[in-house]
Amino acid sequence: MKREALDGTFPPLLRGTISPKPLGYKALTTLPEMDRRLGVPRRIRDTEDMMTTQLTPNIEIVNPDLRRGHFKHAVFDFDGTLSLIREGWQDVMIPMMVEILMATGTDEPEQEIHDLVKLFVTDLTGKQTIYQMIRLAEEVEKRGGTPKEAVDYKWQYLDLLNDRIKERLEDLKSGKIQPIEWVVPGTYDLLDALKERGTRIYLASGTDEKFVIEESELLKTTPYFDGIYGAQDDYKKFSKKIVIERILRENNVSGEELITFGDGYVEIENTHDLGGVGIGVATDEKNRVGIDEWKRSRLIKARADVIIPEFRETSVLVPYLYGEK
Ligand SMILES: [Mg+2]
Repeated sequence: MKREALDGTFPPLLRGTISPKPLGYKALTTLPEMDRRLGVPRRIRDTEDMMTTQLTPNIEIVNPDLRRGHFKHAVFDFDGTLSLIREGWQDVMIPMMVEILMATGTDEPEQEIHDLVKLFVTDLTGKQTIYQMIRLAEEVEKRGGTPKEAVDYKWQYLDLLNDRIKERLEDLKSGKIQPIEWVVPGTYDLLDALKERGTRIYLASGTDEKFVIEESELLKTTPYFDGIYGAQDDYKKFSKKIVIERILRENNVSGEELITFGDGYVEIENTHDLGGVGIGVATDEKNRVGIDEWKRSRLIKARADVIIPEFRETSVLVPYLYGEK
């Protein structure tokens, strides 16, 4: 039965028949019907001429042919998707890079440099940090500067970031702050809901593996994971795509049995390419509620199937995704 679901037993979204009687969330129904019952205005959002619809005010279905069913494997990104410990990293990385590029003596306006940096930093989010630094070195060179080694830029960045997050880490270690304060809202509910359904869960992060392991321990998420994969010093040996392909190969499963949750372009695009379902988590890391519009638009470009702000609506989202009656 569960297998069949993945093979298309469940009607694709928007193509089901409208039920004559009111159904609960758990039942399969069409979006317009659900919207009518919930009194949700059928918001068609303007996404580059693309029609998207709201399952609830917080759950946006981007792919009208979204495949639902029992997912055997789930891959999670860490920073910005589950963990908020590194919240604000972009506000450290982007100004650092702008300063380095302005120091080349370029005559481009600072705002233009800022926009360029923001774009490539975002597009490389989810890949290992070193790739953002490699790109920085290339941009320095393009402007006639002599770049440092990418790895030196990376350490410069990590030193700056550490100033921002060290208090958070210390407070978690000492127990002054509880782990729930530094996770994306609904994190434990979602992980519980997937575990209850027998889904194996993996963590794949572009942050150095030793930091990911430590921070996952501090946030008490480690017991949920069947594997934790982070960036390696030998960066060419790691990528999210390599990790996802390995999970599929070792478990002898197809991409169709995979669901990925991430706030980065990379993991969502990789998942799409491998035939899995990608849930774009457009977390507003500062306010912890609502959508970060910039992330949302990048995630949709990466072909996310669904966009959510966080995991507060796990009790709606998971039964829906798993096609449960
Ligand atoms: Mg992330």
